[in-house]
Amino acid sequence: MPDIIVKKFGGTSVSNPEKIEKVANIIISSYKNNKNIVGVVSAQGNTTDVLIDKAYEINSSPSTREMDVLLSCGEQITISLLTMAIEKKGYAAVSFTGWQAEIITNSNFGNARIQKINTEKIYTELNKRNIVIIAGFQGINEFGDITTLGRGGSDTTAIALACVLKAKKCEIYTDVSGVFTADPKIVKNSKKLSSINYDEMFEMASLGAGVLHNRSVEMAKKYNVELEVKSSIENIEGTIIKNEDKNLEKMLITGVTKDSDIAKISLIGLENKRGAAYKTFSKLAKEEINVDIIIQNMNENEKNISFTISKNNLEKSLKILNKNKNIIKFKNILCDKNLSKISIVGTGMISNPGVASKMFEALHEEKINIHLISTSEIKITVLVESKDAKKAMLAIHKKFFNEF
Ligand code: ASP
Ligand code: MG
Repeated sequence: MPDIIVKKFGGTSVSNPEKIEKVANIIISSYKNNKNIVGVVSAQGNTTDVLIDKAYEINSSPSTREMDVLLSCGEQITISLLTMAIEKKGYAAVSFTGWQAEIITNSNFGNARIQKINTEKIYTELNKRNIVIIAGFQGINEFGDITTLGRGGSDTTAIALACVLKAKKCEIYTDVSGVFTADPKIVKNSKKLSSINYDEMFEMASLGAGVLHNRSVEMAKKYNVELEVKSSIENIEGTIIKNEDKNLEKMLITGVTKDSDIAKISLIGLENKRGAAYKTFSKLAKEEINVDIIIQNMNENEKNISFTISKNNLEKSLKILNKNKNIIKFKNILCDKNLSKISIVGTGMISNPGVASKMFEALHEEKINIHLISTSEIKITVLVESKDAKKAMLAIHKKFFNEF
């Protein structure tokens, strides 16, 4: 059997008939090169956002099960249109929804995880030399309910398929030509990386680089899937994501990212006793609130805890915390929605001193105040006011990549 290549196309690459035709051509050209092709597609353009708005017009707190029934429609439209485009050009293709492709997930509607994929049906089609087009972002749970994998989840569908089908390669086609040192739509002189390692890509994806779903990178690393992010518009080399990247040793950092979908909550005047953090975060965890950066400080009498969450969890979190004020025992609660997270990422910082100070210097020179700092082995994150975020990103990028 010819090698299998999984090709995933994002929403911007399939947003109109001309672009769908272009995608059909990319698929056919690789097919004619004696490859078996599994295409994975997202919903067209901003269809998913439009569907979400439709839901809220009807019900301000729709059930997650029905939300998934609705959102899965977006990808279902794209698979049929793309398959028709391929058929029109005289090639045999077949489309499958997530459930037809037997992508089995857990029941966590809205953020389900893939547990298993039954490959028989897909292999049957490939063996007939048919092109198979599969809806990204969706699956089915053990009870037959439709599930979705979380925003951006089509990447994860593609990589999961590449794993189970033992594909030679997984190619993620998008509207930029690869992974850049910073989002090229914000930082005009950012550079395309010829390669990046899985860990750095995972951090960049988690910290706001919209180019890949972070869970997809985690999976690609675990199963060592060869991954390339490339352009659906120009036929040029993209960025390879792989295990080791020796070239990167000379670079202090690999990229700069920005994430504006954050809100900060501070609990002021907690008693200086054990259990404050446990009480706070167990209440939030019970309601499935994902907490990101946590900072605690204390003096002789009191503790303060600050943490970040995504903006859409702010109201719910404040409600939970205020309801439990007497159990958690804080004096005051503050929140801030006007902050953005700017991060630098790179394995280079493990062995090079002075990376943090260089980042802070760039912000100081631009007179940008830092609200919070958090670091790990391969990333440094600061929170700055959203009005300064773009300026911060440009300054930091310039500081680290000027010499290129
Ligand atoms: N259509 C979904 C979204 O907009 C999934 C994806 O595009 O990967 O999040
Ligand atoms: Mg995406």
